[in-house]
Amino acid sequence: SAPTDCPPDVETLGRGTWTLLHSIAAQYPKQPSPTQQSDVSGFVGSLSRLYPCWVCAEDFQVFLARSPVRAASRDEFGRWLCAAHNEVNEKLGKPQFDCNLWEQRWRTGWKDGRCD
Ligand code: FAD
Repeated sequence: SAPTDCPPDVETLGRGTWTLLHSIAAQYPKQPSPTQQSDVSGFVGSLSRLYPCWVCAEDFQVFLARSPVRAASRDEFGRWLCAAHNEVNEKLGKPQFDCNLWEQRWRTGWKDGRCD
C-alpha cells in the first residue's frame, strides 16, 4: 500500500478503522450502562453513514439494517463486530476469522505469548 505521507487507500483506511473498532470492543465494559450501549451503537451507525469509501459505507448500512448492533456486553459486541468484519472478508474473498479468538487478537494477546 501507499507510503504513509500519501492519502490513505481503501486498504489502509480499512485496517485503521477495524483496529479502532475492535479496540473499542476490547475496552468495552462487560456490563455496559444503557448510555454506553447507545453510544456504541450510535457510533457504528454514524460511521456507516460517514465512512469515506462510499461503496463500503453502502454495503455496511445494508448489513446493519439486517444485523443491528448487539452490545449488551463486551463479548456480545466483540462477536457482533467479528461477524460484521467477516461479512466484508467474505465479500473480498479473504479468509473467515474464528470469532472465538477475537479477544486474543484484540485484547489479551495470543496465548502463545507472541505479542509479549
Ligand atoms: P483487515 O480486514 O483490515 O483486518 C485487519 C486484521 O484484523 C487482520 O489482519 C486480522 O488479524 C483481524 N481480523 C480479520 N478479520 C477479523 C474478524 N472478523 N474479527 C476480528 N478480527 C479480524 N474494502 C473494500 O475493498 N471493499 C469494501 O466494501 C470494504 N468495506 C469495508 C467496510 C468497513 C466497515 C470497513 C471498516 C472496511 C471495509 N473495507 C472494504 C476494507 C477491508 O475490510 C480491509 O480493511 C482491507 O481490505 C485491508 O485488509 P487486510 O487484509 O489488511 O485486513
